[in-house]
Amino acid sequence: MINEKMLSLGNKRSVIREIFEYGNRRRSEIGADKVYDFSLGNPSIPAPEKVKEILLSLIENTEPTKLHGYTSAQGDLGVRTAIAENINERFDAGATPNLLYMTCGAAASLTISLNALLNEGDEVIVLAPFFPEYTVFIEKAGGKAVVVKCREEDFQIDFEALENAINSKTKAIIVNSPNNPCGVVLNEETISKLAELLNEKQKELGTDIFVIADEPYRELVYGDVVVPYIPNYYDNTLVCYSYSKSLSLPGERIGYIFVSPKVQNCVDVYAAVCGAGRALGFVCAPSLLQYLVAKCQGLTGDIEAYKQNRDILYNALVEYGYTVAKPDGAFYLFVKSPEEDANAFCEKAKSEEILIVPGDDFGFKGYVRISYCVALDTIKNSLDGFKRLIEQYR
Ligand code: PLP
Repeated sequence: MINEKMLSLGNKRSVIREIFEYGNRRRSEIGADKVYDFSLGNPSIPAPEKVKEILLSLIENTEPTKLHGYTSAQGDLGVRTAIAENINERFDAGATPNLLYMTCGAAASLTISLNALLNEGDEVIVLAPFFPEYTVFIEKAGGKAVVVKCREEDFQIDFEALENAINSKTKAIIVNSPNNPCGVVLNEETISKLAELLNEKQKELGTDIFVIADEPYRELVYGDVVVPYIPNYYDNTLVCYSYSKSLSLPGERIGYIFVSPKVQNCVDVYAAVCGAGRALGFVCAPSLLQYLVAKCQGLTGDIEAYKQNRDILYNALVEYGYTVAKPDGAFYLFVKSPEEDANAFCEKAKSEEILIVPGDDFGFKGYVRISYCVALDTIKNSLDGFKRLIEQYR
């Protein structure tokens, strides 16, 4: 008998993938330019030109057995040193190479961190709306996901609900800001209050409660919005970072875990991270990509295109009468469905060839996610359809 849980995960495509596949069918039937596909979070801006230059130079100038060989399990020392220096320049967070662990992107950072921290039956709080894979990762690490909904008026943390959810089994809380799917950045007041509450609860319960800061969108913010660096507010923090979105390299699978030096027993926690990476069979993150990102510190793709898309779409939707969460970062809009059942609204949107994703999978019913990491023409050409759609509800 094979593993039933894995069988069902493998057989059940995510709703997002289903919609994307539907889009593929429609594209072949009516032409790609007639389908307004806002389903996937695949970066639409290319990786910076510098990425190509560095890759070519690495290939030309690095000894092949080094370039393509194993690095140490936690990542090449020079690479971790370069990243630690960048973290300290930007956030003065006391990063050292021996607290950094290179990973295959944020998904791997999350699974490794969860496996490092959790014992069977531990609870992990996820703030809804959330990236749907969290529940899969938590369960596989032996934990139980406890969902706490954010406040609908601004998608900041609902502290009363959070306090009620914390108990002696609470091992961690995953904090994702800028957020997928709502694009909201948790502000400094929220992060300070979160730190205060978790410190109080740790003292009261006599336990460690970790923040797992999932930050693949850290660099994708528009205007002068500041994303608080959580290790500077709360001691027991692990940062899960990825270059998938900031450098538009999602298929290359590269990121890292940073265990803050302020984490209680940080040396042991880091060792558990190394152990989890080993037990999960990661061996080491891709070496060529490690050497690349070491030389890309401080570099981000040209996010002006996302900002333009966001501004056009957000302003138009608000003008047409949609209610939209304030989108300060990432490349998603979270829009209140004009009817209670967001699935029904998404079905109706298909009649305008608009493909959007219901919020149910993100733990937040009654909303839809629109990924605006698409071509500008897709945004512009979809607007009349969005207008006609909401007019059906008047
Ligand atoms: N966390 C969030 C919130 C995401 O949106 C994603 C990807 O879309 C991931 C993690 C996984 O990122 P990666 O491709 O770096 O594994």
